[in-house]
Amino acid sequence: MNGARHDLSAANEKKQEPNVDFALTFEQQALIDSLKEFVKKEMLPHEGLVEEQRAVPKEIAKDIYEKGKAAGFVNMGMPEEVGGGGLDYETMALVSRELAKVSTALSLCLKSPSKILLGCKGEQRERYLMPAMRGERLDCFALTEPGGGSDAKAIVTRAERDGGDWIVNGVKQFISHADVADFMVLFAVTGMDETPKGPRKRFTAFLIDHDTPGVTITPMKSICTRGYNPNMIYLDNVRVPDNQILGEEGQGFNFANDWLYSGRVMLAAHCCGLAERAFEMACEWAATRKAFGKTIGEFQGIGFKIADMAVDIKTTFLLVMEAAWKMDRGSLTRHEASIVNLYGSEMVGRVTDHAVQIFGGMGMMEDFPIQRFWRDARIERIWEGTSEIHRDIIARDILREYRS
Ligand SMILES: Cc1cc2nc3c(=O)[nH]c(=O)nc-3n(C[C@H](O)[C@H](O)[C@H](O)COP(=O)(O)OP(=O)(O)OC[C@H]3O[C@@H](n4cnc5c(N)ncnc54)[C@H](O)[C@@H]3O)c2cc1C
Repeated sequence: MNGARHDLSAANEKKQEPNVDFALTFEQQALIDSLKEFVKKEMLPHEGLVEEQRAVPKEIAKDIYEKGKAAGFVNMGMPEEVGGGGLDYETMALVSRELAKVSTALSLCLKSPSKILLGCKGEQRERYLMPAMRGERLDCFALTEPGGGSDAKAIVTRAERDGGDWIVNGVKQFISHADVADFMVLFAVTGMDETPKGPRKRFTAFLIDHDTPGVTITPMKSICTRGYNPNMIYLDNVRVPDNQILGEEGQGFNFANDWLYSGRVMLAAHCCGLAERAFEMACEWAATRKAFGKTIGEFQGIGFKIADMAVDIKTTFLLVMEAAWKMDRGSLTRHEASIVNLYGSEMVGRVTDHAVQIFGGMGMMEDFPIQRFWRDARIERIWEGTSEIHRDIIARDILREYRS
């Protein structure tokens, strides 16, 4: 017995891996405390109005942005070289969790550009990345099409060479906040390659200004994330100069993949925050609402829901922190990103559903935000890759190791 114990510690010493420590540092705690206060004071009071109007009034958006900028809450995850806060993924996961305590539309007011824009080169930096860093321009991500969602390689939007320009034609669907953004990162097919497995499309990412002739954007009405709308984008003979290719021609998807992994972890962190808010409200309700002469939390049927919600949230938080920790060390794999996305998005569905149930009829009323949490939670199983696609990735990556 003693010998076995000795062997184990010797093996651990040999590996010399750093210890995982998720205790918040002093700086992280201070940041989260002040962000919490900011959300409560500057953002939450507008939530009802945004839900009702399905839009964030411009003056409110500007006010939140200016105050958030002064407090250091914009561009937190962007590198310091471009004027960002340079926060690591672990801290950004905590930030994402905190910002999920308010509706997505309002949290977008602290607009930070997508990290995909770090691929901007030369004058693209001055036209797209830096104005986005200064909050003067907002980007959106245009990949999905009516015929290509989960199967992203089925997209048919085409860009064809015309002298030093490209002519883009196609339709993009469900593009978040395109109605308030200034430019898009658009994915198009720019040709075909012959490969041993047959012809393969070449995908290229383009930076396209929304005011370019031939671009039309029309909002779609969704039941989730009111004020943060999905949109149709129609591109009719849109002329785009060659120097608006983001990255290299034919390398569009390599770009998107790097960015998608961190998005999946941040989505799960967001799910934690949304679930926590629903959980706290459900606990307060369970502790005060009475039926049959008792508070409903005293019934095992409700108490067990509270327990399951607590376990679910805690589990997701640990998964998120481990994934973020790995991302900071460049060791997060594709299927690990899918695991945390899948677990977080399904967790928030279970938790918000329990919360609605605990509120009973009041859970369905627009007077309470519980129904919003439940509606907003539903999209999490779809938009950063559906649950089925994540399960497929996890199974394929794991089984590949057994086959080889
Ligand atoms: C509100 C909202 C905002 C969005 N924002 C953006 C955005 O900003 N930019 C952007 O580019 N896209 C965006 N999307 C698109 C989103 O990424 C897609 O909706 C998602 O990838 C799913 O594609 P789809 O809707 O075409 O569903 P489909 O791909 O048609 O899937 C339909 C169903 O079939 C299942 N399915 C498909 N293939 C398989 C398979 N191989 N195995 C098992 N099941 C499968 C799916 O899991 C799903 O259940 C947004 C969507 C919504 C609803």
